[in-house]
Amino acid sequence: MKQKIAESYRQKLASEEGWVLKRGASLRIALCYPNFYGIGMANLGFHAMYEIFNRIPEVSCERVFLPDDSEMRDYEASRKSLLSLESQTPVRDFDVVAFSISFETDYLNMARMLRLSGVPIWAKDRGPRDPLIVMGGAASFLNPEPIADFTDVIGVGEGEILGPQLVDVLLEHPDKTEALRALAKFGRGFYVPSLYDVTYNDDGTVKAYEPADAAVSKRVGRAVAAENPKEGSLRRAIRRGETEIAEQLRTEEVFAPSTSIWAPQAEMGKRFLIEISRGCSQGCRFCWAGFNYWPPRVVPARDILAKAQAWRGKTDKIGLVSTAVCDHPEISEILQGLRAMEFRISVSSLRLDQISDELLDALVESRDQQIAVAPETGSDRLRKVINKNLTNDEIVDICGAVFDRGMLTVKLYLMVGLPTETDEDLAEMIVLVERIKDRMLEAGQRFGRAGKIIPSLNGFVPKPNTPLQWDAICDERELKRRLKWVCKNLARIPNVEVRSMSGRIAHEQALFSSGDRRVAKVIEAAARLNGDLRAGLRETGIDPAFYTSRDRSYEEILPWEIVDSGLSREFMQQEHERAHIAKSTAPCPSVNECTRCGVCPTTWLATAPANLIQLQGRSIAVDRAFAIA
Ligand code: SF4
Repeated sequence: MKQKIAESYRQKLASEEGWVLKRGASLRIALCYPNFYGIGMANLGFHAMYEIFNRIPEVSCERVFLPDDSEMRDYEASRKSLLSLESQTPVRDFDVVAFSISFETDYLNMARMLRLSGVPIWAKDRGPRDPLIVMGGAASFLNPEPIADFTDVIGVGEGEILGPQLVDVLLEHPDKTEALRALAKFGRGFYVPSLYDVTYNDDGTVKAYEPADAAVSKRVGRAVAAENPKEGSLRRAIRRGETEIAEQLRTEEVFAPSTSIWAPQAEMGKRFLIEISRGCSQGCRFCWAGFNYWPPRVVPARDILAKAQAWRGKTDKIGLVSTAVCDHPEISEILQGLRAMEFRISVSSLRLDQISDELLDALVESRDQQIAVAPETGSDRLRKVINKNLTNDEIVDICGAVFDRGMLTVKLYLMVGLPTETDEDLAEMIVLVERIKDRMLEAGQRFGRAGKIIPSLNGFVPKPNTPLQWDAICDERELKRRLKWVCKNLARIPNVEVRSMSGRIAHEQALFSSGDRRVAKVIEAAARLNGDLRAGLRETGIDPAFYTSRDRSYEEILPWEIVDSGLSREFMQQEHERAHIAKSTAPCPSVNECTRCGVCPTTWLATAPANLIQLQGRSIAVDRAFAIA
């Protein structure tokens, strides 16, 4: 049976190009993605960490995925422990097992993989001979607490900085306990849960986080990657007219996370993905990605085009990954360069207020992507609550510009259950979709065909480190009623094909995203009970409503406040108050002097030591064994 699994892995490797296998490295890292191969290989953060680790000469990094159904049957039948993809080595034999977790919905998969690897699942049960278990990725630093008890160290911030630093410390301190203390002493970037004692009030809320001793910081700062430690990003330099700095930024190579392995069997595996910017200036109050990647930063066009050119022989499909593609100050140069190379361009998301004719033309020309836009709601008032400053009229006009180019199908991302939402707001959602559909049919007459409007409904989940973090999720029964009502009324409209997330899934997400350390017991139990979360809740006696369905007071210590994201409490509370009176706030100005939200003075420009704030961490001697195809 073990042979069968190894054979399946060898077949995957045979279909790929660019993977690495180093023999005799001093530090072996198993980089785990808590989902199937096809999904993990579409994740840019996972590709980036594989490249970052393998660039370091002393490191050999191999990939590990959640086995698919057939592989899982083979593992269970053979009672073998989980293997890495490259060398089919048992995961428990690596020095480090590092999970890259982008979504809290993958926590159960992470626990299943730990179980399958034979490594003791709880950190307290592991000894000096067991591998060091590291968690990184957006979900783990947004709120590390639900996974804290599984973990030896959690990466708080961005991998370009943290990966090389982690390796340095581990090479310097072979003793695990010493290494953990050395990491904790940074005060920024590494959270070692075992060095903090958490106490709770009688009402169940967090009372305090007590560091083990004076050398361990009270809170763990977020490590932020930047292109230029002194002057900030290219965007800032261009805005301020500092041509010399802008030129310097353009000419110095920046690490641009991109596809590092050609994996045609994976979702989007035949497309070259590259991150062109990080963070979004708008400050939409529901959006964790916006706030937790402030300040917005960009990769210079020069580096994007150089990498694209290197991959052009392999593919004509390119995906630009960013939360705000058109915010890039050199977007025009990037699009022109890619079109000159005859790339078919797609983008990870389109921010409605920023869609330019040039970008739309490029997307239409590539005919490679269904256009997806995010009005979020059908109510202009609710859009002010979430600080998305667009009106229904503007949204219909923008969709019209898409239809007039002959792209007659659009997907609309919409949320149900936003704070202060009423039935009138939901009725406006139906009207908005109807108006967009009418505009599509009008354009369709000119092309002699009709398209489709695809509303995709999600239940709103309040996320940590956003201004709506103090709000409860809409009651599950009420959320289901609202989703059902909207679905029913949208389904009646011709040329509309509605898709909806279930209210139950939204509540599960809310539990995992806003839980404290005690939620780890639910994760462990549910993973052991074949993913049955309800059974896990019953077994542990944990009431999910405590985490999901109560408004939190400003006095409460929030479980995720062990992480100092740089966002000041004062700013976040103001934003929360403004949300509830439907008052909008201007976007992040991305200028040097700004102190508004607290991120720049605390995480970037002022106190952070230089080796924490450059995008590459520091220059890394590239290992010759590592070559990207
Ligand atoms: S301090 Fe100002 S410029 Fe910096 S991220 Fe916050 S709002 Fe943006």
